[in-house]
Amino acid sequence: MRAAVLSAHGLDGLAVAERGAPGLAAGEVLVRVETVGVNQLDLNVIAGVGPGVAAKLPRVLGIDPAGEIVAVGDGVDPARLGEAVVVKPNIACGGCPACARGREADCPAQVVVGVHRDGGAADLVAVPARNAFPRGALPSAVATAAVHSVPIVLNAIETTGVAEGECVLVTGAGGTLGRAATALAAHLGADVVAASRGSLDEAPPGVRTIRADGTARLRAALAAEQPGGFDVVIDVSGHGPTLGAGVAALSWAGRAVFCAASVDPGVELDSRDFYLRRKRLIGVASADYAQVRRALDLVAAGAVTPAIGARYDLGDVRGAYRDFSDSPPGKVIIDVS
Ligand SMILES: [Zn+2]
Repeated sequence: MRAAVLSAHGLDGLAVAERGAPGLAAGEVLVRVETVGVNQLDLNVIAGVGPGVAAKLPRVLGIDPAGEIVAVGDGVDPARLGEAVVVKPNIACGGCPACARGREADCPAQVVVGVHRDGGAADLVAVPARNAFPRGALPSAVATAAVHSVPIVLNAIETTGVAEGECVLVTGAGGTLGRAATALAAHLGADVVAASRGSLDEAPPGVRTIRADGTARLRAALAAEQPGGFDVVIDVSGHGPTLGAGVAALSWAGRAVFCAASVDPGVELDSRDFYLRRKRLIGVASADYAQVRRALDLVAAGAVTPAIGARYDLGDVRGAYRDFSDSPPGKVIIDVS
């Protein structure tokens, strides 16, 4: 089979190569891949930095493949053969207290497809059966675009307990996560303000938008837009000063959730304001298995529609990563077959 294999750090170390089909362990399924996404996490793996350090080389990239089950391992229902699926990238350990509570997003022993084990930028990928979610009639590219981003923001919304009518600020709203967070919060009946450095032309109807470049401008714009403060802030910007601005703009007992890793890990908060005004700050990464199911169902129902951006054939996988940071909005997709 063909696979995008990273054999040395840097884009020059990435090439499409012929490989044997992956082995299939008990409890796993083999997926013939149609599409896989391009993610910031892949760039970290390619560069060997941040969460990408965990990847041992050579490694087949690709965290979020969608395709069809073509073989099942021992213990997996053979009725799943031929099922259209999309892969949840994070594999929970199944044995820790978080997993026992069904809060697999908080499992400390998660491994990630395409990081800790070979991924889906290949004709075939093996994953635990539980991680291969039926996608019904969802096209593979839409499922690939949805499976990582929509469950994370659903987790953020559910963890902060966003209620109908609450005022929700989304910072970093122009990206894939930000668009999903904006659409989902609006779908749940929240009064949503979407803030971004760039254009927010495609915000859902009724969503207020703020375009502000620079932290001082953002702070002023937030105070002007919602003088009483926000009930919830969902930050997907991965930018510490933006998170700080969001926390400062929370109302009494407001909740902030941080859903993206920052390149610069520093965050400055006013501890007195945070304490006296009973604010809360939560980190959310990945999602529970049940949240992935709910998120895919919300996508199928049209509550949130992930935008598809540029598309590349597997043979041009280097081009996909090379152009990633300059791509137009929307999920970058690699077409494998
Ligand atoms: Zn666990």
